[in-house]
Amino acid sequence: MSPDSASPDIGARIDEQLLKTVGTDAASASPTELMQAVSQLARQDLSERWVRTQAADRGAKARRVYYLSMEFLIGRTLSNALAALELRDGVAAGLQAHAQTLEAVADREPDAALGNGGLGRLAACFLDSMATLGLPSFGYGIRYEYGMFAQDIDQGCQVEYPDPWLADGTPWEFPRAGISVPVRFGGWVEHQGHGEQAKAVWRPAGEVAAKAYDMVVPGHGTQRVSTLRLWKAVAPAHIDLHAFNTGDYGRAAGVKNEYENISWVLYPNDSTPAGRELRLKQEYFFTAASIHDIVGRHLEEHGTLTNLSDKVAIHLNDTHPAIGVAELMRLLCDDHGMAWKEAWAQCRQVFSYTNHTLMPEALETWPVGLMQHVLPRHLEIIFRINQEFLALAAQHRPNDDGFLARLSLIDEAGERRVRMAHLSIVGSHKVNGVSALHSDLLVQTIFADFASLWPDRFTNMTNGVTPRRWLQQANPGLSALLDSRLGAGWRRDLDQLRGLRALAEDPAFQAEFTAVKRANKARLAAHIERSTGVKVNPASLFDVQVKRIHEYKRQLLNLLHVVTRYQAILMHPKGIGGRPWVPRTVIFAGKAASSYHTAKSIIRLIHDVGRVVNHDPRVGDKLKLVFVPNYGVSVAELIMPGADLSEQISTAGTEASGTGNMKLALNGALTIGTDDGANIEIRQNVGDDNIFIFGLRTPEVLATRQAGYQPMRLYEADAGLKAVLDGIAHGQFSPEEPGRYRALVDSLLWGGDHYLLLADYADYVATQARVDDLFRQPEAWAAKAILNVAGMGVFSADRTIREYAEQIWGLPADVR
Ligand SMILES: *Cc1c(COP(=O)(O)O)cnc(C)c1O
Repeated sequence: MSPDSASPDIGARIDEQLLKTVGTDAASASPTELMQAVSQLARQDLSERWVRTQAADRGAKARRVYYLSMEFLIGRTLSNALAALELRDGVAAGLQAHAQTLEAVADREPDAALGNGGLGRLAACFLDSMATLGLPSFGYGIRYEYGMFAQDIDQGCQVEYPDPWLADGTPWEFPRAGISVPVRFGGWVEHQGHGEQAKAVWRPAGEVAAKAYDMVVPGHGTQRVSTLRLWKAVAPAHIDLHAFNTGDYGRAAGVKNEYENISWVLYPNDSTPAGRELRLKQEYFFTAASIHDIVGRHLEEHGTLTNLSDKVAIHLNDTHPAIGVAELMRLLCDDHGMAWKEAWAQCRQVFSYTNHTLMPEALETWPVGLMQHVLPRHLEIIFRINQEFLALAAQHRPNDDGFLARLSLIDEAGERRVRMAHLSIVGSHKVNGVSALHSDLLVQTIFADFASLWPDRFTNMTNGVTPRRWLQQANPGLSALLDSRLGAGWRRDLDQLRGLRALAEDPAFQAEFTAVKRANKARLAAHIERSTGVKVNPASLFDVQVKRIHEYKRQLLNLLHVVTRYQAILMHPKGIGGRPWVPRTVIFAGKAASSYHTAKSIIRLIHDVGRVVNHDPRVGDKLKLVFVPNYGVSVAELIMPGADLSEQISTAGTEASGTGNMKLALNGALTIGTDDGANIEIRQNVGDDNIFIFGLRTPEVLATRQAGYQPMRLYEADAGLKAVLDGIAHGQFSPEEPGRYRALVDSLLWGGDHYLLLADYADYVATQARVDDLFRQPEAWAAKAILNVAGMGVFSADRTIREYAEQIWGLPADVR
């Protein structure tokens, strides 16, 4: 990838777009209009590349991978598009004529936040890597009218607002007027004929059209542009004209809404059971439309379905598209007359599945009654798959009804439910976890029975992140420094970062590295002041925990440390043991699911503690606590480069992988973390001396729980911990309502402390003191931070996608 070259005619092209597409006078264009104009310019260039890419794939009758995901957390597109087109410098120069920076203009684009968190962002990173590696690839998802809610903070409490990201349209989508797929629901099934001639005919009760909207996915350092096809639900008739003409406007619109609400909102499903009919309809809606599209494309190119699995790989990002297994069987058998056995063999070769969680409450199941109501034919197909599967399993382990009950696609305990993870495993040829630990635990715990049946089906694909967005785009300062020492090749070959190892102890390099970090911290401090009103000191240690707010991620443990430190500062204002306090700024960001009461209470406690600490004159710069509102991709791009310390403190065995941990280390933050998820692999790659690992390991977590964990004992035995919990519980931070956090503290002391905060507390606080000790030695800190960046090559999503391509999808990835 060569550095961009400024081209004299880009300024003219921007003006032309302003005049002809945006419809405004170039002389008076606002930053938003400039954003639109530059986007149109990039869109046109990408469109040309895109048409060529798609024609080449059609001509080659390429094998393709289709990545089905309920979520794509894309963020902004403009900067990424310009980088892929190598137009950044040219556009920046062109914007000077309008007295605007590219940064300010790009800032006008709303985030496409079509996802909740890590799972959705992973899908977005994967699209980038698939295109960059030259894989013939499509993403498929839903064109949600409203993305993830926008978070505002009112009196310390989270309030949610709709996120109408499409309100002003988006330059990045291409509506495909001709592509509309009927998706049907409900009704009943008729069975005709007998034996070999038996035929099932689904008589659906309702139908909605899925309309295709394509978003461009540019590869970097390649001309390839891939497609993210998102489906919008459109009612068969726009309004009930009869109702309208009789004056019943409510009913006239109701018909439209009843169908179109399928693509209105991203279901706020963040590891909470979301058993709603609408969610099931969403899942089927986008999966059915996508599979119809995939099969249609295959038939157009090959004229037969007998070679389907030679040409098509469909990947299920979690179980949300798992109904696709039954849908493909229905399509092949009912619509195309393929024999069941042949169809099943195709199906098993086509699908692969990624699991993202070990937590039983987050594994999707659907009541059989609901499935019967919404998808009667699919339920029949699932029953038949199950029958044949259990017959096979019974041969493997005869006379073991417990084994069969555990494996069954149907959970028979209580209300009968379809287990979507089981459907995904049975219907796929490969199943993977997302970090080494997670994949091991999968086959040892929730999928142990399946692994005994099919050991080779299970594998690991450790997550990764795209260095284009998370280093090149988010951290231009560090990128330029890397270019000066390593060349520009790290963008497509992140292993080249290894070259930094030789520079870790070099004082000149350390000074430049530290200066970049300092500038990023100043940029972040400005954003913190703008968004929270709190002034923070860029020289202080920036201690960052940014991710969804969830009990297992243990933001509350972080807070216990903050309160511990606050109380210690009051007690020992000059420091401890002759060592003065290391000034710290603790930075949180993250959204809580709107129905997740405990997570919202944690957000409020962060604000209450912050209000007290930040205004206590005895504390000053020694400690600040802020919560940056509305966490999303663009906020992450601002926070990650400015972090010194990355908090990855989930209870061991709960975080499947994490990717925030990778982004932060890639930007030169040191990790304080548990032995969990990808933290373990980060430790292996950056070295034990360059990371702060603390707390119980996974086997110890299990043993602690089994031994009858008693958090109250830890509370009674540790005066510091007792003072912290008593302070929170008795209103030290909420004097106007002293009992506000009683329930939160009680959940630790009396409610069993399910995530073992108190068990890890002492080691965590001691480890934070070691962090201070290191931060007192700027050169030693800088050396370790550099070694972190140097060790992150393996966490490129390019490495992950190369593994998927070779080991799961059967696709050759471009050599670098
Ligand atoms: C990377 C990312 C996540 C995932 O963060 P974890 O710390 O791995 O949970 C969530 N949201 C956004 C916006 C991200 O960029």
